[in-house]
Amino acid sequence: MTFNELNLIEPILRALGEEGYTTPTPIQQQAIPQVLEGHDLLGVAQTGTGKTAAFSVPILQILHRTAEAQKGQGPRGRVRCLVLTPTRELAIQIGESFKAYGRHLPHLRSSVIFGGVGQNPQVQALQRGVEILVATPGRLLDLMNQGYVNLQHLEVFVLDEADRMLDMGFIHDIKRILPKLPAGRQSLFFSATMPNVIKELSATILRPNPVQVA
Ligand code: AMP
Repeated sequence: MTFNELNLIEPILRALGEEGYTTPTPIQQQAIPQVLEGHDLLGVAQTGTGKTAAFSVPILQILHRTAEAQKGQGPRGRVRCLVLTPTRELAIQIGESFKAYGRHLPHLRSSVIFGGVGQNPQVQALQRGVEILVATPGRLLDLMNQGYVNLQHLEVFVLDEADRMLDMGFIHDIKRILPKLPAGRQSLFFSATMPNVIKELSATILRPNPVQVA
């Protein structure tokens, strides 16, 4: 199979070609069509499987599609996609993936926020406006509590590496963030392992009967 068979738009196919990708990985083959159709997803996947492109590619296409439908009249600068991930390194990698696969969709801006560094450059990026926000939970909560992040218009939510989030003690932060997300959103939930506690968390985030990929 090639990426051309996945109903992706030309600017994204071109970016994937420039990355040197020819064949979608198994998780990409399974996830991309389902996410494009608007389904919620429960993915059992480790880093290294191509998981990041499996969610970032269809999310870019979804956000581009609605921006097109609004013919540029739609509101700009609202956070339309939030990706929560446990570490700064993962956040940076995911941010780089959105930038790479979205390089020919310049109207979709992405930004990365994480703790351990000054917040001012992150706040300035938020104030310029971002459609795609990649964040670690603690810093996101800080910036939300200071009024710098509004998630009221969120369309797609991704929880990445859920098992590591729990191991690192982020569950309380996540539980404070979840009530701020609109109920009508699409959600994608990824974890390398799926013990009961993670299944239960996924059920509080995803709509009933999510598509499962592994
Ligand atoms: P991930 O599992 O998302 O961290 O991706 C692991 C690595 O595989 C990253 O370096 C990606 O750039 C690369 N990658 C992802 N999808 C593909 C693909 N379809 N073909 C070749 N490389 C890929």
